[in-house]
Order: sequence, then structure tokens, then C-alpha cells
Amino acid sequence: MPTFQLITDQDIVKGFCTDSSNYPGYADALVRPGCVSDVVEIVKEANSKKIPITTIGNRSSLTGSAAALGGWILDTSQMTKILEVDSKEKFVIAEPGMMLSDLKKTMLEQGLFYAPDPTSEKECFFGGSIATNASGSRTFKYGSTRKYVRALEVVLASGEVLNLRRPEIEKNTFGYLPFQNMVEIFVGSEGTLGVITKIEVQLLTKPENFFGGMAFFKTLTETLDFVVNIRKELLQQFPMITPRAVELFDHHGLSIIRPDSTFKIPKEAQAAIFFEQEYKTEEFETVLNGWLPFLEKNKAIVDDTIIAEQPKQQEELRMLRHKVPSFLFEEGGKYVKEGGGKVSTDWSVPINKIHEMVDYADKLAKEVKIVEPVVYAHIGNGHPHYNFIAKNAAEKKQILEVVHKTCQRVVSLGGTIAAEHGIGKIKKDFVKYQYPSQIINSMKALKQSLDPNAIMAPGNMF
Ligand SMILES: Cc1cc2nc3c(=O)[nH]c(=O)nc-3n(C[C@H](O)[C@H](O)[C@H](O)COP(=O)(O)OP(=O)(O)OC[C@H]3O[C@@H](n4cnc5c(N)ncnc54)[C@H](O)[C@@H]3O)c2cc1C
Repeated sequence: MPTFQLITDQDIVKGFCTDSSNYPGYADALVRPGCVSDVVEIVKEANSKKIPITTIGNRSSLTGSAAALGGWILDTSQMTKILEVDSKEKFVIAEPGMMLSDLKKTMLEQGLFYAPDPTSEKECFFGGSIATNASGSRTFKYGSTRKYVRALEVVLASGEVLNLRRPEIEKNTFGYLPFQNMVEIFVGSEGTLGVITKIEVQLLTKPENFFGGMAFFKTLTETLDFVVNIRKELLQQFPMITPRAVELFDHHGLSIIRPDSTFKIPKEAQAAIFFEQEYKTEEFETVLNGWLPFLEKNKAIVDDTIIAEQPKQQEELRMLRHKVPSFLFEEGGKYVKEGGGKVSTDWSVPINKIHEMVDYADKLAKEVKIVEPVVYAHIGNGHPHYNFIAKNAAEKKQILEVVHKTCQRVVSLGGTIAAEHGIGKIKKDFVKYQYPSQIINSMKALKQSLDPNAIMAPGNMF
């Protein structure tokens, strides 16, 4: 007899069936393991009866990946323990159900820094961020979650527990590369290969200081020139300058934040770049003296440039940055009943292709005469988000046609259709643009070998 409790009351279960994409999910039951042995028992039982399992974190996914398609929802919210912190070797081992921001805060209090910073860090779990390979504004300097994952404990569909560790050897010629480091395969696997029950990540030393900044520009092209020149010139000339964030607001984004901003946003600004720069106390003047002439040379509206040194101002800048996706999420939610909602892209291209891609995406977006997209976010990584609000199903269809064409161009420029949110259920139609069918079939074969009854997160990715 199973010892776990299945919650079948649909009044409760329905509350866990969708995620931030509003994708319509459904399930028979909700189950809340408290530890790995609970997960093993649940998964074994489900597998023996071929019952689908969708593992959920805090359901902030924007792709429908956390929306179940039948079966059981495995809620990781009870698995919240920090199991080990090693401040000498700088790593932490924790369970998946802790809010990411809480984990990061706890580490900071010990002088340790966990670099990945999805904008949703106060809305997503540690485990969810691993299963989606989340990234954020600081990815410009630090890269995405994947880079920091040292080891994972994973429960497979059979109930077997795998302990995977990133190899530390410098040479290895045995096997296909992804299999030499199975940690890499589970990071970003969107719940399709197993349940992640324990995570070890690399920490860094807490940066001494940082300042936030916001530079305004009169045209979007000048803004993009500025971004490209950060890599081409600024980083080359001043090795001390390593901005950790380089984030875009277009003019719609500026309109969204204007009402909440205590900073002056100049009327003539058509776009802005939010950036963050770390520094050692004694290097402050040198670092600032690198940035200021660069801003001037690259046509920022210098008099209105914001440099935020105080924690309160820095927090305000980050809150303004967060306001854009939150606002769009709420706006989109208003039209879901009519078959509309938010349609957002998640593509990225190599930075030297960003002008070409933005010109093309803007031209296509203008073809949707009904709505202009809001364009914002990780431009430093060649990764702006285009967000359209469709008021009904007909508008959504028209917008999706534009997104299809955009994705095709992205791939032809050497980019990706999904730089940080994954594929889930709502981006599956774009997958064919990125990989040939043989590669997709190899991924499916891997899933089939680890999950022969296809119970893990059905409907995600493929
Ligand atoms: C306002 C807003 C801003 C956002 N900003 C960003 C951003 O800047 N960067 C970014 O990358 N994302 C962003 N997102 C998307 C989302 O927050 C991230 O994808 C996040 O990592 C998902 O974490 P979660 O705990 O909510 O996972 P969920 O949404 O619950 O699940 C996501 C996927 O992970 C799987 N999963 C969750 N936990 C486990 C586990 N323990 N084992 C196996 N599989 C698991 C699920 O099955 C699902 O496939 C944003 C979302 C919102 C709403």
C-alpha cells in the first residue's frame, strides 16, 4: 500500500494546473513528497500504472512546461532543506523546493554569491531554475544556471536514483560528449527525464560593491550600437570593466516604468540600457572614468544618465526592470478568455547579428498592424524579448505567424529560438526550425530509454 497522500479534490488540484503562461492544464491528483524516498515511492507507483507525472516548482514557467496534461502533479514545495554549505570550496547542496531568492539571500548572508538571477527569482524555485536552465540580467557576465551546477540527484521514471556529478578530469575520450557529463543533460530538461531531488551548485565570493546604471538614447539603433561597442571597445580597453547586466528598455518599456520611476526619464528617450557594474572600493573612480566617456562617445543622453550607488536606488532600478514582465503578464492575462493573451519571444542571436535581426523583427512586427510589441531585456546577450498582447484568438494567430517567420530568420543567423524559457508546450511548433529531425529523434530516443512509459512531463519539448 502506498504511504503517500494523493490529493484528488479538484477544488485544490485545479489551482495547480497551469503556470504563468496560462496554458490550460488538468490533472487527477496532486502529491507533495517531503524527501527523496517519497519521490521514489510516488514515481514507482505512477510508472507501474503508466500514470503521467508533471513535476512542478513554483509554476512561474512562461511556456506551459509546468501545466500538467493529466495524471499526477508532483509538487516539490515541501522539499526546502539546505543540506550543506561549504564556504571554503564555495558550494551549496539543497533540495529543489526553496524559493531561489531565499537561497541566494541565505548565501549572501554568509558572504557567498550564487550568480544566476532570473528576473523571477522571487517567484521560482531552485529546482525549477535548474530544470529550465534559467538565466537573467546578470548572464552578461556570469552565464546561465548550467555553468554552476556541480551535481544532481535525480529520480528516474523507474524509481532508480541517479547521482550525477560534473567530471573534474581534464581529458576523456570515452563516449559521446553529452553523455560524458550527464549533469548537462538534466539541466534544462523541463521535467521530461526525471525528478531533480538534490542540487549542488558552485558559489562565488560576494562582489565587494556594484553600481546600477541607466543610459538613455534618442534612437534604438544608437542603443544597439552602444551595446555592440560594449563588447567591441569597452571590454577591450578597460579590463576592469565587466558589466554584469546589459538590459534593454524600448520606448514602450520606458512608458511602462515611467509612472513608478523616481528617476527622471527624458522625454526624448526612445530606448534605454540598464546596466550593473561591480567594483572594488579603491577602483571606483577608475571604473567610472571608463564608463563616462564611453557613454558620451556612444551618444547616451549624458546629463540624464543614472548611476545608482545606494542600495535603495539600485533596488529601484531592479524593480523597474522587473516591472516590465510583470506588467505584460497582467496585461496578457486580461485577454486569455477571448483566446488572446501575451505572446513573447525568447530568441537570441550572436551579438554581431543583433542590428540585422532587430531590423527584421521590427519590420515583421509592423506587419501586425493591430499591436506593437514591447521589446526589452537581455540585449547584451543578443537576447531581447518581443512581447505582443493579443486581444483575441484572431490577433494571436496573426502574431504567431510573425513569430514563426522571426524564428526562421533567427536560426539562419546562427541563433536559438529559446534562449532562456525553454520550449514547454507552447513553443513546440518552432522546434523544427532549430534542429534537423534526426537530432530531435535522438533526443526522443534518450527520453524513451530513461522513461520508457513516457510518464515524465508529457507534452513538454516534443
Ligand atoms: C515575471 C516573470 C519573469 C521571468 N523572468 C525570467 C528570467 O529572467 N529568466 C528565466 O530564465 N526565466 C524567467 N521566467 C520564467 C520562469 O520563472 C523560469 O523558467 C523559472 O526557472 C521556473 O521555475 P519554477 O520553480 O517556477 O518552475 P516551474 O514553472 O514550476 O517548472 C518549470 C519546468 O521545470 C520542471 N521542474 C520544476 N522543478 C523540477 C524538479 N525538481 N525536477 C524536474 N523538473 C522540474 C517542470 O516540470 C517544468 O517543466 C520568468 C517568469 C515570470 C513569470
